[in-house]
Amino acid sequence: MYEKLQPVAEDPILALMARYRCDTHPNKLDLGIGVYKDEQGKTPIMQAVSSAERLLLAHETSKSYIGPAGSEGFNRLMAQLVFGGDHTVIREQRVVSAQTPGGCGALRIGAELLASCSPTGRIWVSDPTWANHRPLLAGAGLEIREYPYYDAEQRTIRFSEMIDTLNRAEAGDIVLLHGCCHNPTGADLEPAQWRALAELIERRGLMPFVDIAYQGLGEGLDEDAYGVRYLADYLPEMMVATSCSKNFGLYRERTGALFLIGRTASQTERAGGQLFSRIRSHYSMPPAHGGAVVETILDDPRLNALWMSELNAMRERIRYLRHQLVDRLEHAGVAGDFRHIRHQRGMFSFLGIAREQVVALRKQYSIYLVDSGRFNLAGLSNRSVDYFVDALAQTVG
Ligand code: PMP
Repeated sequence: MYEKLQPVAEDPILALMARYRCDTHPNKLDLGIGVYKDEQGKTPIMQAVSSAERLLLAHETSKSYIGPAGSEGFNRLMAQLVFGGDHTVIREQRVVSAQTPGGCGALRIGAELLASCSPTGRIWVSDPTWANHRPLLAGAGLEIREYPYYDAEQRTIRFSEMIDTLNRAEAGDIVLLHGCCHNPTGADLEPAQWRALAELIERRGLMPFVDIAYQGLGEGLDEDAYGVRYLADYLPEMMVATSCSKNFGLYRERTGALFLIGRTASQTERAGGQLFSRIRSHYSMPPAHGGAVVETILDDPRLNALWMSELNAMRERIRYLRHQLVDRLEHAGVAGDFRHIRHQRGMFSFLGIAREQVVALRKQYSIYLVDSGRFNLAGLSNRSVDYFVDALAQTVG
């Protein structure tokens, strides 16, 4: 049976991680994989998470099944986090929430449902987008199309080309949008651009699918949710996938949520029934632990405040590193324009260097970034910034 199967092409980011682990250079730097790291290069468990886990261990009384939708409390609190407590869609009961196995689980199960109801079965994604979007969405049967997004020369968003392309999309097409901290570019839409996009989506009869995997890591929890909240207010229907991997540091616990917004409460409820039935036939129900941790934190004012202060510190560290890096690059006179890195958001930006230079950084300095030149700001530290800048000065000139 299996002899027909071909070897799978190596995943570039996982391959990079494997090479990094084997590297013995004392100053080696991992700027590839998208996880948050602290000044010591560690990805620690957040204190709010550890405290919530201790509470759960002391008080949890059952490991019985939780059902396809996951925990009702988690779903309610997550909807409040993403949309804001008094959002119209919550008041009008036009949102159905499902706890999912990470943001990936939310994207895949959302795509499964959309593939069964979109008349065109087509989804538009940004060029470029996160590498896993394609397999997740195409695996559900959606046909993938691209809209222009990032201008690598100008280091800005190609907004008018994006609008022109989406103006040619057909009614019923789905549009995937990054809620904040665009992966891989770090270039986010401004409020006025979200508003123009909402108008276009309504006029063309498109269906928005927002992936917001980094809420709180850009400008702040509310600021980062501007786009998703605006679209939810303006449009009758949408789908939203979120993740607790980054903002709660729960990566391996596979914790996320999917929100389905419908035109009316009864239509939303009916669509929700279909969603839960898809979940039942895919993975039956989500893992409980990560969701229980998040619910415990969001439901407890003391833990909530602790979590927010830890999240603020993560966000501020990334923003500080953005400025430090560009200041030092400019000070060292490294050739190139790096100013975009200062104001972009989230963990990623493109350095804007050639592929050969990325390879040279890896071979000569043991600095690992993705071939496209995307790098994770959180992989830097106050100490390693100088090493990185020196290596760039030698490599780029
Ligand atoms: N969307 C984007 C844009 C991401 O970068 C990620 C994680 N890298 C995810 C979704 C999903 O992450 P997870 O499944 O680990 O929650």
